[in-house]
Amino acid sequence: MHGTLSLAKYSLGVGDRFAHQAKPQLQACRMAAEQGVEVIPVWNKSNREHTLIGSTPADTRAAADEAVRELGWSKPYYVDADHINLGTVDKFVEACDFFTIDVADLIGRPCAAAALQAFVKAHPELRGELRIPGVARRFDIGQEFLAQVANKYLAAVEEAGRIYRRLEAKKGKGQFITEVSMDETDSPQTPAELLIILVAVAAEGIPIQTIAPKFTGRFDKGVDYAGDLAKFTEEFANDVAVIAFAVRNYGMSGNLKLSVHSGSDKFSLYGPIHRILEKFDAGVHLKTAGTTWLEELIGLAEAGGEGLDLAKEVYAEAYAQREDLCAPYAAVINIDPARLPAPQWVARWSSEQFVSALRHDPNCPAYNPSFRQLLHVGFKVAARMGNRYLRLLSVMETTIAKNVTANLFDRHLKPLFIGE
Ligand SMILES: [Zn+2]
Repeated sequence: MHGTLSLAKYSLGVGDRFAHQAKPQLQACRMAAEQGVEVIPVWNKSNREHTLIGSTPADTRAAADEAVRELGWSKPYYVDADHINLGTVDKFVEACDFFTIDVADLIGRPCAAAALQAFVKAHPELRGELRIPGVARRFDIGQEFLAQVANKYLAAVEEAGRIYRRLEAKKGKGQFITEVSMDETDSPQTPAELLIILVAVAAEGIPIQTIAPKFTGRFDKGVDYAGDLAKFTEEFANDVAVIAFAVRNYGMSGNLKLSVHSGSDKFSLYGPIHRILEKFDAGVHLKTAGTTWLEELIGLAEAGGEGLDLAKEVYAEAYAQREDLCAPYAAVINIDPARLPAPQWVARWSSEQFVSALRHDPNCPAYNPSFRQLLHVGFKVAARMGNRYLRLLSVMETTIAKNVTANLFDRHLKPLFIGE
């Protein structure tokens, strides 16, 4: 048994569909460390993803442990049971030491009247004009708003408490990191709502170190942010201020920070977030998982020969099955069918053509966000190819690793944590 696990200020949630890229992912964190910025890697994978691929949490753990050993990484690292609930948590208990408790499904489910009354009564300090240091406008939380927000979220927070306590009983207090996520829901939470949620989480006794609200705007898979950047920036800054306030006033973990479930590659947010973190001396956890799978495809395509052929085959299959592949992600993808090149056309592409359509370089005229998003959700096709796909990952390891590391370091770590 070691002491209480405490997540560092900066951390990066990486994902690896086929458990082959842990090393090049960790290498990106090592490069940040060489520049004097500690970014702690967290390998996250959801139950849905494990099910689609046929992998287990133990596979993720083994890949992470091996990468850490081989690169001689001496700082902490974690394996995150991403988006678990009471029904799915058990199979993650052993392999994971980070748990993202997803209670979004319970948002809006009314809670018991007695619990609601008790909560409102216990928190008279929230009512009326509330000054949060760092927030320009005062919150004006009336009795009615407080009751309405509590009624919307209390049942979800109570469920998070049940899941947390089950984990605590199995793993021991302080032996894992707890995140609560509410991002997979319809409407974003305002900073005032976030404050009420945090107060409820504190009252429920869940020692969260990260919280993932839903932010304003679209966080589509694998492409940049779409929304009102100024509005996001203000909301994010206010959320950071609210968290600092909750830490001071409600005894929450001193390292509590926002977790951004980015859906990968929200490049235009990194600069504004970096400046806010500097201003508030705050930390952040960034989940950008799916980006790595696309770098695998880029690496295969760039290597040419069989690699390029296989990447084209993945696209052709994904194109043929696009309706099925897209259905589970309907709310978080935005594909323009008219922009999807016909597979017969792609079949004639060179490595460079395939790579430049797929690689997320917003300044490249050949970059095609629809092509990219379809492939983002197309990992199931590669999963079905089984060893035919996995073998080429090994054969073309060098080209792939180079892309995985450069993508994470240059396009994510640098702008967000280092500030370049
Ligand atoms: Zn999420």
